Amino acid sequence: MRKLEELVRPNVWNMKPYSSARDEFQGEATVFLDANENPYNGPFNRYPDPLQRAVKNQIAALKGVKWENIFLGNGSDEPIDLLIRAFCEPGIDNIVSIDPSYGMYEVAANVNNVAFRKVRLNEQFDLDTEDVLSAVDTYTKIIFFCSPNNPTGNSLSRDRLYQVLNTFSGLVVIDEAYIDFSEASSFLSELNQYPNLVVLQTMSKAWGAAGIRMGMAFASIEIISILNKIKYPYNVNILTQEKALEMLLNKEEMEKQLQIILAERTRLQQLLPELSCVKRLYPTDANFILTEVTDANLLYKQLVEQGIIVRNRNNVTMCNGCLRITIGTPQENDALLEALKKM
Ligand SMILES: *Cc1c(COP(=O)(O)O)cnc(C)c1O
Repeated sequence: MRKLEELVRPNVWNMKPYSSARDEFQGEATVFLDANENPYNGPFNRYPDPLQRAVKNQIAALKGVKWENIFLGNGSDEPIDLLIRAFCEPGIDNIVSIDPSYGMYEVAANVNNVAFRKVRLNEQFDLDTEDVLSAVDTYTKIIFFCSPNNPTGNSLSRDRLYQVLNTFSGLVVIDEAYIDFSEASSFLSELNQYPNLVVLQTMSKAWGAAGIRMGMAFASIEIISILNKIKYPYNVNILTQEKALEMLLNKEEMEKQLQIILAERTRLQQLLPELSCVKRLYPTDANFILTEVTDANLLYKQLVEQGIIVRNRNNVTMCNGCLRITIGTPQENDALLEALKKM
């Protein structure tokens, strides 16, 4: 890996972060007259912990990492944007990623005026290491991967990800939004081996909490410090911190739901191929199935008419004729199967 100082934008490297009242004083006190808060209306009158220590301690315990290796944001969207803003000089640096994949990497790159280079996956929806590495030049600061990948559903080959981690001298981001649905193990265990690795996870999928907006980035203390330096001081509000902690303390509930979703995924994998409108299912490690159907646009429209919304991926690279179907409750999946039977 290149020295962090060479990878980070000079203005970000040299700037001093905003110092909030909550940063300056930490410890025990009873009278808080430092932040111009209204003394009434507790607990919401107080600014939240800028570093979300209580939530991070629980995540650290669950994931076996140190709390200093965790960044929490307003969904994964926030660390995606912050990584680009911290490392990529607009109009000069570039990002490499795979195609098809999650759309937010490209949107965040476009917002920041950072060139985005898409490298097509191979026929197995896996990365071609040579293609990825030959898209890299000296201005490439970040490579974004997503595994299990959205919208294809498969995990990328671990060996190929290691090859990129070992060869590329900038940051390698592995978005693991769907890791809890997968048998594949997380790259979190590799954080200590690879100073250039950033792992993204979220509470939006397996944890069933897309509404509270809680995204996580895991990386070296040095990279996490850069993200902390440029984030909004109070980026995760009290309601989200409290709810996230409550849910993280009740992991059993998440695991119960996960087992049902996985069983339903297996059931749909058995029943969908029997339908005449379904041409093929792609293998999935996520809570959705990419399926090639006879006429994606028509089926999408007919499902909408039945009040059933799936994701039409017909216009996505390599996904011609495909719908992306999220695993729902048993009743919802039955409704989908019934509707598709008649199409
Ligand atoms: C759903 C999803 C996320 C989650 O984003 P949040 O902002 O945390 O809700 C992240 N990455 C991928 C690939 C996703 O599909």
